[in-house]
Amino acid sequence: MNILFVATELAPHAKVGGLADVMAALPQALAKAGHGVSLVVPLHRGLRRSGEFRRTEREIEVPGVEGVKSARVWEGERGGVALFGLERDEFFDREGVYGEGGVDYPDSLVRFQFLARGAVELARYVEPTPDVIQVNDWHVGLVPAYVKALGLPIRTVCTVHNLGYQGEFSHTDFEKLGLPEGVFRPEGLEFYGKMNFLKGAIAMADAVTTVSPSYAQEIQDQERGHGLHEVLRARAKQLTGILNGIDMVEWNPAKDGALKNNFKVGSMAGRVECRAALEKEMGLEPANGKPIFGMVTRMTRDKGVDLAWGEVERLLRRGGRLVVLGAGDPVLEEEGRRLAQLYPKQVAVRLGYDEGLARRIFAGADFFLMPSRSEPCGLTQMYSMRYGCIPVVADVGGLRDTVQEWDKKTEKGTGFRVLPTAEGVAAGVDRALAIWDEPAMMNEIRRNGMSKDWGWGSAVPAYEKVYQSLASKPGRF
Ligand code: ADP
Repeated sequence: MNILFVATELAPHAKVGGLADVMAALPQALAKAGHGVSLVVPLHRGLRRSGEFRRTEREIEVPGVEGVKSARVWEGERGGVALFGLERDEFFDREGVYGEGGVDYPDSLVRFQFLARGAVELARYVEPTPDVIQVNDWHVGLVPAYVKALGLPIRTVCTVHNLGYQGEFSHTDFEKLGLPEGVFRPEGLEFYGKMNFLKGAIAMADAVTTVSPSYAQEIQDQERGHGLHEVLRARAKQLTGILNGIDMVEWNPAKDGALKNNFKVGSMAGRVECRAALEKEMGLEPANGKPIFGMVTRMTRDKGVDLAWGEVERLLRRGGRLVVLGAGDPVLEEEGRRLAQLYPKQVAVRLGYDEGLARRIFAGADFFLMPSRSEPCGLTQMYSMRYGCIPVVADVGGLRDTVQEWDKKTEKGTGFRVLPTAEGVAAGVDRALAIWDEPAMMNEIRRNGMSKDWGWGSAVPAYEKVYQSLASKPGRF
């Protein structure tokens, strides 16, 4: 089958969050399984500079919000996946992917309409014509509408990586999109009088997937549906939750060049050195027999960063340390800065994006704190388990599907799940501190997490099943 992915991110050079990692891994996993797979992304500054894409002579004409403009097609190849970069510098040659300093660029509508329409235009010319276009998150949410409006014989799958971001715009902008009037209706892009790109994609795609089975259930409830629960319920039969994996080659503590020392199950001395190196790098006082908690996160309330800040003083009273890497909400960043200044030897907060440091935190911290209020899948808890850092996570979404609760009796389990509340986080920290005093159990939990296969193996047949279900519908394949 021929599958064309469309997305705004691609690790490592155009990465904001987990979407980038997924785009770097899932298409390749499908290609390895024998499918013809390609990926269209905007030619962001980071991608152009990466050298992975080369400029071609192909130019496509894209009917956009500001009239027809051309996009130069750049091409590359990675792990059997054909990469296409759409070059339009006024839109994509920017420092950020979505914005800068926590603020979105003001022309999101124009940029992302151009990307969606351009990707559909490209799909008409690539050989062979894709059977399926897989649309990832709201930025490319107009793709199903264009495919249908143009009458193309291509199926669309909308994959929701995060329902919290939907792309809402005024209804007055609709006429700029060049779509038939009928698309602005409750079965299409319209949502309570506004345009909502993600809602449009969910409503109009032939199938909908999201990134974990638990999240697929949760988002059909009013409480966790971000306003779209009814839209999702209406599509329940076509909605599938497929758990993300991680790239087990890229994320391997036995080979990771960002670490001071490498380690693996059965040979953990390197991890002890990584821990000491992390303390040093972050300027922390040695933890004196107490654990280090780590976080690598976008700084948002969704991720429960405020809950972590609220726990800091209790944690310190009990001797723990906290190391945080993240960027995002200026208010949460400021609170992190304040705490780090107040407790410079016990709390280290690095504001910004640093993949090497992220890896060193997974490899050096003892526990990974992730009290997300909402978590579609989450990758960092899988990276931390792979690197021997025991997760203390909220009992929601993909965290529930990946972190298995430790059970003393059976000696099974990879971490702890708690409620995403102040009490829940306090309880999680208490449990971590208690287990810390039981080295044999610590080792067992660690080993369990490090030994698991977090790869994409089981996701591939699940996606194939979704594509196959579309094949049985009347149409081209
Ligand atoms: P989300 O996509 O919601 O941000 P995920 O856990 O799915 O969360 O993926 C986050 C990805 O971004 C992981 O690869 C994580 O290591 C990375 N990441 C997040 N914040 C930073 C940061 N400040 N520096 C480096 N990597 C980061």
